[in-house]
Amino acid sequence: MKNRELFSQINQVIASKDSEVAELISAESYRQRSTICLIPSENYVSAEVALALASPFTNKYSEGYPHVWKEGNLIDKNGRYYQGQENANKLEKLAIQRALELFTDNPSAYHANVQAISGAPANLAVIGAFLKPGDTLMGLALDYGGHLTHGHKVSVTSHYYNAVHYTLNEEGKLDYDEIERLAEEYKPKLIISGATAYPLKIDFERFGRIAKKVGAILLADISHIAGLCVTGEHPHPFPHADVITSTTHKILRGPRAGVIVCKKEYGPQVDKALFPALQGGPHMNTIAAMAVAFKEAMSEEYKAYAKQVVKNAKVLSEKLKEYKFKLISGGTENHLILIDVVNNENGVTVKNASWFAERLELAGIVTNKNTVPGDAKPWNPSGIRMGTPAVTTLGMKEKEMEKIAELIWLTAKHAEDDSKIAEIRSEVELLVSKFTEDSNFII
Ligand SMILES: *Cc1c(COP(=O)(O)O)cnc(C)c1O
Repeated sequence: MKNRELFSQINQVIASKDSEVAELISAESYRQRSTICLIPSENYVSAEVALALASPFTNKYSEGYPHVWKEGNLIDKNGRYYQGQENANKLEKLAIQRALELFTDNPSAYHANVQAISGAPANLAVIGAFLKPGDTLMGLALDYGGHLTHGHKVSVTSHYYNAVHYTLNEEGKLDYDEIERLAEEYKPKLIISGATAYPLKIDFERFGRIAKKVGAILLADISHIAGLCVTGEHPHPFPHADVITSTTHKILRGPRAGVIVCKKEYGPQVDKALFPALQGGPHMNTIAAMAVAFKEAMSEEYKAYAKQVVKNAKVLSEKLKEYKFKLISGGTENHLILIDVVNNENGVTVKNASWFAERLELAGIVTNKNTVPGDAKPWNPSGIRMGTPAVTTLGMKEKEMEKIAELIWLTAKHAEDDSKIAEIRSEVELLVSKFTEDSNFII
């Protein structure tokens, strides 16, 4: 049975009791099947991941861990607060083992925590594990591509901690000498490397040397590039970083959650900082889906996928450059492209990125607005962020990337013209339907 038929039958079960929710699920399924998703943080999960999320593990409370720590050693002993954990313990241990196999080449030297509800709490837990309130952390500024949890002023990561930031240079690149200078000046206890909108490779080795020099812990937040790091498409943070955090729902194609992998010596404090310091019971159904996704990410198929994600991003970015869009950092070395749509050089005037993102959505191309370096108003940014993880999951290749670049260009050129936008939308639906009809991922 095709996945779509399977999930449509499942939705009929919901519809028989709750038509309002079932209709929304069905409408969302249609939206995902009929538009091109270029949001770099989104993807489509396999049926196996989706079904694990819907499994009976959702009913189980499992506060605590399937292990205990004793003098820095992990002991295989039930560390839960509720009874009935025989399967939950096996499941979480399996997910931890798979996380270690996926993210490290020496599982016995590291520890993994799979309980973070999402990426933001994973980062909060790591910060809490190493810093006391008031201590200094350093990360990439939000308006230069950093994440809120890297110490932005609206985040608790700056309310409770002293957050300092590095930025990008005029070419839109990380300036490691400047990062080193700032680290020596501010002496942060924790340095965060990683970004939510940075199209170039990150030099974790250099970050590691800087952290060592100033006695800081190095956290590599690889939420966006995890799938590239574990397949060799991007340099790996280990052994340079002390801790890795990642979301599992972006390029990793798993459920919405966070994973933390750290040097084993930090295991006890990281576990404690996540539970009981930050969260209550883990979402065991999500952990089941994580285990499934980790196994998928270790396959040859996933390796080929990651390679194609990068290839597709390259082709999409080169084509966009041919249409004279202004690309931040000059192009891409990963899965992500950031274009400055206000200051492009192709004669097209775009008022602001929010408006253009709306016009693109009307044309069936779903992206997100984003700040670009130097944007004065983060709530009214000049950039559009896009990426290739989702379209590559659908099976799109170089040819489709060229077509998508053309459709983006046409949308920019005719942005004010509703009937032209409607024509582009028909082209988008035709293109995407060829890939979503039989996809093993679209549900
Ligand atoms: C997405 C992201 C996060 C946060 O993940 P959520 O699941 O949205 O909480 C953290 N760091 C980076 C770099 C991200 O891209």
